[in-house]
Amino acid sequence: RAKSQQRAGHFYFTRNMGVEIRERVRMMHALRSAFSKHELFLAYQPQMDLVARRPVGAEALLRWKTEDGKLVPPDRFIPIAEYSGLIIDIGEWVLRTACAELVHLRAAGHENFTMSVNVSQVQFRHPQFLQVLRNALADTGAPPRYVELEITESMAMEEPDTFIEMLAQVKETGVHIAIDDFGTGFSSLSHLQRLRIDRLKIDRAFVTEITGSTRGSSIAEMVIQLGRNLGLSVVAEGVEDEHQASVLQQLGCPLAQGFLFARPMGADELSGWLAGQPALRA
Ligand code: C2E
Ligand code: MG
Ligand code: MG
Ligand code: MG
Repeated sequence: RAKSQQRAGHFYFTRNMGVEIRERVRMMHALRSAFSKHELFLAYQPQMDLVARRPVGAEALLRWKTEDGKLVPPDRFIPIAEYSGLIIDIGEWVLRTACAELVHLRAAGHENFTMSVNVSQVQFRHPQFLQVLRNALADTGAPPRYVELEITESMAMEEPDTFIEMLAQVKETGVHIAIDDFGTGFSSLSHLQRLRIDRLKIDRAFVTEITGSTRGSSIAEMVIQLGRNLGLSVVAEGVEDEHQASVLQQLGCPLAQGFLFARPMGADELSGWLAGQPALRA
């Protein structure tokens, strides 16, 4: 009896695995086809100066709308894009599209606006990445110092020497570097000091923890302090209410992004939204 149960359990397990692998393969084909049919697009989420309450830039976020109108969240399809290698072409397209949008916004008078682009580990470590980046900047005419690449903390921690060398070359193009989801990756602080980065993004989880209690904001406070000590800019992610915004502002956090200010929106919508905001200052 025990044996048959074990077998039944085993069968169930492998069958489920088969389903999961088939689902992944299906998604990979669907993603490849969506990409070639230009069904991927970028949404832009404004980043705000917390004191002036003015937009200073935006983060480009990848979107996939399937033929039946469903939005597949990036957390679901980006791992598949990475795993299949599709991220190389998709990532290049993201970079070029975001750079082109930056140029478009500058032409519309948003001259100090910055554009942040997420770059995956697979993409960053690809031998052609530097060339892809240089070409995207040159072909679109995007000024490098207004372009920021968001990389994750864990990326910076793996093979640190190769990474530091690569980072130096990327920085030579003039683009800025932000560490995304900061605080979730257990980076060593001494290592952080060796990296030529420009900005830390406080992970949404630590912003969510900000409540009436003093301990809730302690990690956010630590990251803000760390940024100040290292001379780095800091952005708080996922700010959803005014309480969080004012606590962050009081803690000296210069920048924030979140549903309180704006949700990610299409390029056309962004132009209109910006037009309704107080003017940007130099
Ligand atoms: P991320 O880079 O940390 O992006 C922030 C995520 O938080 C976005 O989710 C954004 O829509 C969401 N968000 C912003 N404000 C709020 C808020 O106030 N509340 C809540 N609950 N959420 C908020 P999204 O667009 O689903 O992206 C998820 C992740 O997918 C991104 O996290 C990023 O790691 C990855 N991703 C997105 N676009 C790209 C891309 O073009 N390339 C790569 N490699 N990764 C991307
Ligand atoms: Mg990001
Ligand atoms: Mg993030
Ligand atoms: Mg995230």
